[in-house]
Parts: sequence; structure tokens; C-alpha cells
Amino acid sequence: ETGNGLLKLKGDSKSPYFILTAEISSIYSHNGKTRRIHNILLAPSIEVVEKIIVALEKRGAKLASDGRPIVGIPSKEVLKIVLEASEKCMLIPAHVWTPYFGLFGSMSGYDSVEECFEEMSEHIYALETGLSADPEMFWRIPKLDKYTLISSSDAHSLPRIGRECNVFDLEEDEVSYDEITRILKEGDRKKFKYTLEYYPEEGRYHYDGHADCDVSLHPKQTAKLPKNKKGQALCPKCGTPLTIGVFSRTEQLSEREDGYVPKNVIPGKHFVVLEEIIAAGFGKAVSSKKVQEEYVRMTDQAKEIDILLELSEEELGKITGEETVAAIMKMRSGKLDIVPGYDGKYGKVSLFEEVIKKKKQVQTLFE
Ligand SMILES: [Zn+2]
Ligand SMILES: [Zn+2]
Repeated sequence: ETGNGLLKLKGDSKSPYFILTAEISSIYSHNGKTRRIHNILLAPSIEVVEKIIVALEKRGAKLASDGRPIVGIPSKEVLKIVLEASEKCMLIPAHVWTPYFGLFGSMSGYDSVEECFEEMSEHIYALETGLSADPEMFWRIPKLDKYTLISSSDAHSLPRIGRECNVFDLEEDEVSYDEITRILKEGDRKKFKYTLEYYPEEGRYHYDGHADCDVSLHPKQTAKLPKNKKGQALCPKCGTPLTIGVFSRTEQLSEREDGYVPKNVIPGKHFVVLEEIIAAGFGKAVSSKKVQEEYVRMTDQAKEIDILLELSEEELGKITGEETVAAIMKMRSGKLDIVPGYDGKYGKVSLFEEVIKKKKQVQTLFE
């Protein structure tokens, strides 16, 4: 621990700072419905974390079973527990639109922060957008204007750390747990520059659908389908209820036109994962040796975020080949064709398939 509420690796002067966070899944019954909600916890010290652990275990939680433990304690009670451990703790509802585990999810969520956290709602300052949604989708819902929107990696494996992230502008001596949580609580735009976002279509729950039947639907198509007694739209192939995606859910709660930008929002910048861009340029799989080697070579020479957003075409040319430069510039142009994800299946960026096809044509010319 470094004394500023953050941690560094022992004996590594270049170590990045780490903030103590955990995601916890609450499954419980509330107002006559089963709720499954994932929440992110932030804590200022290991001592506080230990207090939280003791309090959760007293309530019967088995925390050692999983990296993201499942507890039977309602979200509101978890919030009380962490604030009792320290007023500096924060609880941020995770990937709030995802159908099964989001605060606003179509399957087991709520329609508002207040419905979930009741008299404790004032202690919720921020919401996580999740991979299948971006800030623009929140901006259409007036009651969410007061929340700071964050984008985290929701990483369940190491390479995915930082796949979505929050970009702060801080001097080295300003970096501390207190400052980061202040920025989140106040939504300080001067310090919180932007979030780095997947194209929401790429996420696993953007459209409505039924994966087993390869059925993927735009909300307008879903609206035309027959429904069961519970009002759930049914899969046109097999008749089971569809998984209603993030796009539909935000449409349901939207009160403003698509494209509305409220005052003082923190913008989101969209990008495609660098390994995918390299793969597209080469016309190879992300997991291929060539792509992985090029990824390591490039990120040894420059910061990944600079490669994606900042470096000029000329500067990029100095650290990588023309295929990758071309693919990065295409990504930055934003002119992408994306097949949206649905019912747990990731979306696909198909603009790069064009690049791949062209490359194959060139190859066949010379074979
Ligand atoms: Zn989660
Ligand atoms: Zn089906």
C-alpha cells in the first residue's frame, strides 16, 4: 500500500497504481421478483476490505468460492455494509443494462436506481455502462443525468484488463483513492476526460435474440412478435422467450430523441481492440502467432491507447507495417459495419472482413 489509498507492486518502480475493487453478485427476492444484480465495490485500504469480508461472511456469504462471489444479500444491504466499513467506500452498479445481471436488466433488474436502493439511493454516484452500451444510450434518459458514467473492463481474464476504461487527467502527485472517488462522485469533467468504449454493437447483449436458434432482432422487429402471458416476446423459430438486449431496454426507458446530448457530459470515444485491428490488417486470427507478436512489438514501443487514438499516420508507420496502419486509420474513421451481438454472442466488426477478403483476392492472384 502506498499510503494514498492505492497499491503498487513491491519492488517495481514502474508499477502502475492499483485500486482495490471487487465485483459481487447479489441474488435475492425484492418486491415480488427475483433480482440478480452485479455491483462493483471500491475500498480505500486492505483494512477496510477485511472489515467488509467479515461483515459479508456474517451474513452467510461464501466469498472464497469465486472471483465474483454470489451472495444472497440485497444490493441495498451490500451498500450499507461497505459504507459501515468506511464512508470512503463506493458501490457502483455494474454493466447496468445487461439482461441477466444489470441493475436495469430486462430479465431481473429494476426500472430505476431508487427502486433498488430505496432510502440509500443518494449514496449511488456512478453507473457502469458495460460493453453492450455506451454513454449516448444513457443520455436519452433524464433521470440518469445525475450519475457519472464509467466504463470498466469487466475483465475475467488478464488480457482483457483495460479493454474499456476511464481516462483521467491527473498529475502524479494528485493520484490517490480520495481524488479518484471525488472525481467519480462529482463527475468532475476537468479531470475525467473521457471513457474508452467498445462499439456497443460488439457487446454480447446489444440486440434481442435467441442464440440456439441464431435469431437476432432489432427492437422494432421484436415489437412485432407474438408475446406470452407475461408479455415476453417469443422466438419466431422455437417459441421460447427471447433474451431482450440492451438496445431494447434503453429504448423502453428513453424519453429523449436518439442523439440527444445533455449538458456537461463526459464523452465516450469508440475504438476496436488493437489485437483485432492487427488481425484484420493481416487477415489472420487474433490468436495467431503473427498477430500476437506484432501486438507485443507495437505495445513495447508505444502506449496502446496512443496507438489507438493519438499517434499520426506517419508516427504509426514508424512502429508497424502498412496493413496495420491502414486498419487503425479505418477504425478511427468510425465507418464500421458491425453485426450486433445478441443473447450472449459477441458482435462482429465486419468492415475488416472486407479487408480480409481483398487480401485473399490479392493472394490468389499470385498463387
Ligand atoms: Zn458482472
Ligand atoms: Zn429459438
